[in-house]
Amino acid sequence: MSRYWSEVVHHLTPYVPGEQPRIEGLVKLNTNESPYGPSPAVLAAIAAATDEALRLYPDPQSHALREVIAAHHGVAVDQVFVGNGSDEVLAHVWMALLRHPAPLLFPDISYSFYPVYARLYGIETRPIPLDAGFRVEVNDYLAAGPCAGIVIPNPNAPTGIALALDALARLVRGRQDAVVVVDEAYVDFGADTALPLVADNPNLLVVRTMSKSRALAGLRVGYCIGQASLIEGLNRVKDSFNSYPLDRLALAGATASMRDDVWFAQTRARIVASRARMVAGLEALGFEVLPSAANFVFARHPAHAGATLAAGLRSRRILVRHFREPARIAPFLRITVGTDAQCDALVAALGEMVGA
Ligand SMILES: *Cc1c(COP(=O)(O)O)cnc(C)c1O
Repeated sequence: MSRYWSEVVHHLTPYVPGEQPRIEGLVKLNTNESPYGPSPAVLAAIAAATDEALRLYPDPQSHALREVIAAHHGVAVDQVFVGNGSDEVLAHVWMALLRHPAPLLFPDISYSFYPVYARLYGIETRPIPLDAGFRVEVNDYLAAGPCAGIVIPNPNAPTGIALALDALARLVRGRQDAVVVVDEAYVDFGADTALPLVADNPNLLVVRTMSKSRALAGLRVGYCIGQASLIEGLNRVKDSFNSYPLDRLALAGATASMRDDVWFAQTRARIVASRARMVAGLEALGFEVLPSAANFVFARHPAHAGATLAAGLRSRRILVRHFREPARIAPFLRITVGTDAQCDALVAALGEMVGA
């Protein structure tokens, strides 16, 4: 605390990211990073960018990157907005598009950064409970009345459960009064994308990150796609905040990544295959595993508390994520899908603990 703090600082509840400890031999399955490095083409592009051009500012419009993203998704360049990680993109979305005098709707169990942005920008929130099977129920959002906007992670985090395209379409079309943000951080691991709905729906914004499926969490690149009028609103906020959110190395690496479909497809397929192997291993130990379309699984054991299991894994140098709140998810562990060897180490360690 300091008497020099502004009023707003006193009311903030900052997001707490998963740990990044430096422990020798750690099996790190707590923050949904890729176990595989980025494409070699990305590393080469970054190395090539560390030249004398670093003395110059980067392109404030990130034009070359936005062009490859637009081409990749079959949209126009003015429909693409990029930021320093999708966290920054989301923050600008809250400010530019969701700051209205009505509650913002999102699932009660979802990405815990959403309420943090809402507090920062003074937006009222109304969490909508997931149903008994931890699923998003679209009818609840259709019936919710006036709102500042709707945010749905698809697949949801930390449950991993995905909504199908027809359900997303029903939501977007049924709530033309509000911006619907679909956070597709994990979509590449097996969910339907809402992108085909963008052309017909001026209220839809689809947010993506290069941190998970493109193995670039350390580079900090995210983007979103919507109709040009929404993107223009975001640019107004961005250009009132930081003209250069993406540095030259990030622009070079991200552009190369979007061009390398082969590496992307290979690593993604390996993670999807390892996920099936991990789920089978966990189920054989008696775990209940929610159906995951992401690069993590959400699992609970009927006889062992989540906190106890997470602590036991930690003492065996395996890190997973455990959320104490809300109480409904306290029994669960959120486990990132690693390499097959990492998944096997996790299942073996849990086997020791649950005595199966
Ligand atoms: C990881 C994650 C993000 C943020 O990703 P960045 O690394 O900031 O691009 C956004 N939304 C969800 C649901 C996530 O899990």
